Amino acid sequence: MNRDYLINMIEADCPICNKVHSLEMRTRFTQGLVKGEVVDYEEIYFLCPLSDEGENEFVPADIMDENLLRARDAYRAHKRLLTSIEIAKIRDFYGLTQSDFSAMLGWGDVTVTRYESKTIQDETYDNIMRMTYVNPMFALESLDKHKDRFTAERYKKIRKNIIDRVEELGNLYLKKQEINSLYVSYQDESEFNGYKQLDINKLSSVIGYFSHFVNNLYKVKLMKLLWYADSLHFRRHGKSMTGLVYKHMPYGALPIAFDEIIYLPTVKVIEEVIYDDIRYKIVPYKEVNISDFSLEELAVLETVANAFKDYKSREIINYMHEEKAYTNTETYQIIPYSLAKELKDLK
Ligand SMILES: [Zn+2]
Repeated sequence: MNRDYLINMIEADCPICNKVHSLEMRTRFTQGLVKGEVVDYEEIYFLCPLSDEGENEFVPADIMDENLLRARDAYRAHKRLLTSIEIAKIRDFYGLTQSDFSAMLGWGDVTVTRYESKTIQDETYDNIMRMTYVNPMFALESLDKHKDRFTAERYKKIRKNIIDRVEELGNLYLKKQEINSLYVSYQDESEFNGYKQLDINKLSSVIGYFSHFVNNLYKVKLMKLLWYADSLHFRRHGKSMTGLVYKHMPYGALPIAFDEIIYLPTVKVIEEVIYDDIRYKIVPYKEVNISDFSLEELAVLETVANAFKDYKSREIINYMHEEKAYTNTETYQIIPYSLAKELKDLK
């Protein structure tokens, strides 16, 4: 595949003709050598349209630096290390400059600057930067530990930024950890998770979706809707949507970590006491963000939501009890997604 595109026309000094004229700025896929490994990346170069023989392309020095960065980022993406853009995103998340970020982690002043421009971080440093992002409490501890590297005013400002993020995300981080620890034996793609690793962000969006478009959404009903969404997606596309693993339980399919997942932050859970019974009603907390889903996923969610919108918990339990996924498995057994192929047709 030879992708070579014109991205801009620039009036500039052409080193080939030695005069100022209009130059083509182009990109193309090429290969480069980074740390002894060949990587594919997209480079930028200039083409002189006036010269038609021999050398008619060149790369100015600043673009050469940009190309090197792109090659290194391709290497990092391949090695699953943070790219320079991702590192900058983490800083932005807490409103940090490059030297703030370095100081906060107890590193040399220009360490982060180098990671964003030329040096490739090793895995230990990579993990620390990642941890700062996923766990704002870790960010806060790091900052406090290196307080003396900041002016009092700067320290206060950054601390406030981090605390805002803790309030926003700290709880989500802990919830995710809890759920992930229950899924530790299901990290490989298999027929138990529908050939998809658990995707908690997706799960959170799916629960948010149902909370908006389904009536009487109590816990038991939500669990069945999740199973139908995952199973229908599996039947149509050979993969589950969320990666949840379901067990055969007396009230139908129940995902592992069912108690934890209703407390994800896209929804609010209201406890209703009816006689001696506590019922958990799930109501929307955030707007549905349609871009969280692919078109295929939206089609599945719509089918499931429409089919069961007005069902009471008991009705959906009875409906599920007739599924092969239920009749062909035993209590406490994990329901393999292969049985989703036998799903009754949803109206
Ligand atoms: Zn020229």
